[in-house]
Amino acid sequence: MTSAFVPVNTPLLDGNEAEYLAECIRTGWISSEGPFIKRFEESMASAAGRRHGISVTNGSVALDLAVHALGLEPGDEVIIPTFTIISCAAAIVRAGLVPVAVDCDPATWNMTIEGVEAAVTSRTRAIMLVHIYGLPVDLAPIIELARNRGFKIIEDAAEMHGQTYRGAPCGSFGDVSTFSFYPNKHVTTGEGGMILTDDDALADRLASLRNLCFQPQQRFIHEELGWNARMTNLQAALGVAQVERLPRTVEIKRRIGRLYDSHLENVEGIRRPVPRTNYADNIYWVYGIVLNDDVPFDAKEAMRRLAEKGIGTRPFFWCMHEQPVLRRMGFMLNERHPIAERIARRGFYLPSGLALTEDEIARSAQALKEILA
Ligand SMILES: *Cc1c(COP(=O)(O)O)cnc(C)c1O
Repeated sequence: MTSAFVPVNTPLLDGNEAEYLAECIRTGWISSEGPFIKRFEESMASAAGRRHGISVTNGSVALDLAVHALGLEPGDEVIIPTFTIISCAAAIVRAGLVPVAVDCDPATWNMTIEGVEAAVTSRTRAIMLVHIYGLPVDLAPIIELARNRGFKIIEDAAEMHGQTYRGAPCGSFGDVSTFSFYPNKHVTTGEGGMILTDDDALADRLASLRNLCFQPQQRFIHEELGWNARMTNLQAALGVAQVERLPRTVEIKRRIGRLYDSHLENVEGIRRPVPRTNYADNIYWVYGIVLNDDVPFDAKEAMRRLAEKGIGTRPFFWCMHEQPVLRRMGFMLNERHPIAERIARRGFYLPSGLALTEDEIARSAQALKEILA
């Protein structure tokens, strides 16, 4: 039995990744003009049943462009979960919009229809749906509300490659839906992101925003400021190979979840991920743990003790309404979201990468048991 450190994430790149990368080098196609870009965009779009995929440099920029492209007015409000990554709030703030945060469900850690309903004001124009850690948001009631009120939907599916909601793929629900290809995501390109949409005009606009808003007729005359957010053919080559193996990836993730569950079944003091709801089976993007209130230490201390035992962990997200940078800008002052505040302090995740061995899972679970004993 090895006693090496168990890293929180290690990707698996043992499909066609090397072959496709070698093809890029052999043919000299390394820039964003290369043929893997189209292939990757089409494979991502078709996996989610969408018309268009627009590849970009990362999932955060995907959100920036997605929010920007909707053309909302300065001061318009966008509802977001408070329990999410900063990229969500940053995209809204940078577009001159106002993020309005909502609390999450204590079992699934996702935003809820009750939270969204309570956050709607006369200035609400859009809802950013962010699926957290392994289970999708319970979408149907929120989408219905958005449709009735004419709100746009931005769906952040960064953690949901291969996941479905009532049988339909995550990434198929937003006016714009985004993905990340960071190495801990189910599809990785090292760094990378994608925006999916069915709207032809929006797709053109996103492609233009990604490419500095160069104009087809007079390239260096600009009507609008864009970004250089172009992905390289090298990244897309990895992405094509990663999408090919996505079903297997999802199987491995679910197996990791089941193994942790079996090791931790009778362990007291923790809340484990919900294995399934009536709309989805957990895909275990990460295997999250929340310490019960009777455990006399918090997540930070638990992670320190696990690191001493050679187990890599990551803390849960820190709430948007508690972010110093956003508060200094005057956003979300005086908000309290007790469920998210609690899990941010008592939650963390165990090693969850695709290359994790059964032995590493057993050792991680054993270490957790020991620190709780
Ligand atoms: C990873 C992630 C992002 C950001 O993606 P990057 O590619 O790291 O910029 C955005 N939203 C969610 C929910 C994520 O998990």
